[in-house]
Amino acid sequence: MNPGQREVVLAFRMPEETKPVENQVAPTTGESSFAALGVCAVLCDACRLLNYREPTPIQREAIPAALAGKDIVGLAQTGSGKTAAFAIPILQFLLEDPRPYFALVLSPTRELAFQISEQFLALGSEIGVRVATLVGGMDMVGQAVTLAKRPHVVVGTPGRVVDHLTATKGFTLKHVRILVLDEADRLLNMDFEEELDQILAAVPRSDADPSKGETFARKTYLFSATMTSQVAKLQRASLRSKETVRIEVSAKYSTVETLVQHYLFIPEKYKDCYLTYLFEELVARHSCIVFTDTQSSAQRLALMLQNLGYGAVCIHGGMSQPNRLGALNQFKSGEKHILVATDVASRGLDIPLVDFVINYDIPPHGKDYIHRVGRTARAGRTGRAISLVSQYDVELFQKVEKLLGRQLEALAGVQQEHVLLLLDRVSEAARLAVQEIREEKLVLHAAARKRRIPAGASVSRRRRRS
Ligand code: AMP
Repeated sequence: MNPGQREVVLAFRMPEETKPVENQVAPTTGESSFAALGVCAVLCDACRLLNYREPTPIQREAIPAALAGKDIVGLAQTGSGKTAAFAIPILQFLLEDPRPYFALVLSPTRELAFQISEQFLALGSEIGVRVATLVGGMDMVGQAVTLAKRPHVVVGTPGRVVDHLTATKGFTLKHVRILVLDEADRLLNMDFEEELDQILAAVPRSDADPSKGETFARKTYLFSATMTSQVAKLQRASLRSKETVRIEVSAKYSTVETLVQHYLFIPEKYKDCYLTYLFEELVARHSCIVFTDTQSSAQRLALMLQNLGYGAVCIHGGMSQPNRLGALNQFKSGEKHILVATDVASRGLDIPLVDFVINYDIPPHGKDYIHRVGRTARAGRTGRAISLVSQYDVELFQKVEKLLGRQLEALAGVQQEHVLLLLDRVSEAARLAVQEIREEKLVLHAAARKRRIPAGASVSRRRRRS
């Protein structure tokens, strides 16, 4: 043990009454308890505090396998509880052997990275786990300071992890014992292949050979919603094939049973009006994500709903990272109950207790529908999804139904004459929204023009002054 490691052992608060891990297992309360999976008492307590009454299917399979030292390939959709499925074993290993940079978790998006870190902190709050979150769009220096505190777990997007590897003095992945590749299919879809290669080259090997003085083999947990050929390639490159447990908890493209899905066939020109009607009559003050296809539509709808008196915010890829996080936090805290989002928010975001998902636009790819509606009915809860299908969307929607393997039902009881009673109010709110966007653009344009005063002009002004 080197001096640095000793310092971390001391910093990692071990509750007085929970010394050897073997003795920590909480009383078994049945086949389906966390304790029965071998989870130690302090982490069982953390699960209880988070209201995790019993393990989800992925947790039931993955936790014992991970605790037995296996590599894991988990095919699971978001909402299945997969984050805790890898976080709980990692925290339990850390309790036994607390060391800095013990685990590296790679996530395809910044938002997901923050959520993973939050779950580590929530589950590990009693044991003083230190987590660093390394994502783009945020200050490198602040992240370097967190790294200097020798975190136990590093969560990050591949690009920013590589940036720190090259730029941050003292940051190394040489001590990583567990590498988690979360949403591996997306990591690869988002062209992170090069960064992943660099990271795989920087972490300890998974097939370490003690005869060559290599003391430990890195373990890998790979989670993915789909097993594409690219993911299979990554699996071959990063996992010890003989030591791997493969877990699949959901059908390839399915939605959970607790999700009630409907569509509403509507004329395109009254889309805004139907959307508002759904809020008036059905959604009311419940939490709801409205999915749209474009950034401008997300912005326009959020403003329109605000003009109608609803608490709405939008999130899309064109927003700065702090603005995106701000909007997400307003939604998560319940300050706003409607989130209007593009597909940037459709996967990986852990937004608990979303009661409704509304597809304002039908996504061009059926898989995106599955990911969008996966924002509700998570972890055993019920939820509702409603898709607005206009005369132009019929073909796209049929593709979705084909992927789901069944036809969805129309939402009953909606009469157009009732919907159109809202038309004047909605049209005015939509008109104001467009005007607000135009005015905001003009202000931004003017500010940009001011900043762009040619170099020569400022020099001559300075000369004039002097
Ligand atoms: P994930 O699939 O990791 O995105 O998790 C989805 C949501 O389920 C998160 O809000 C978790 O806090 C929650 N969760 C995880 N495990 C459980 C469990 N065993 N019981 C209830 N909720 C859970």
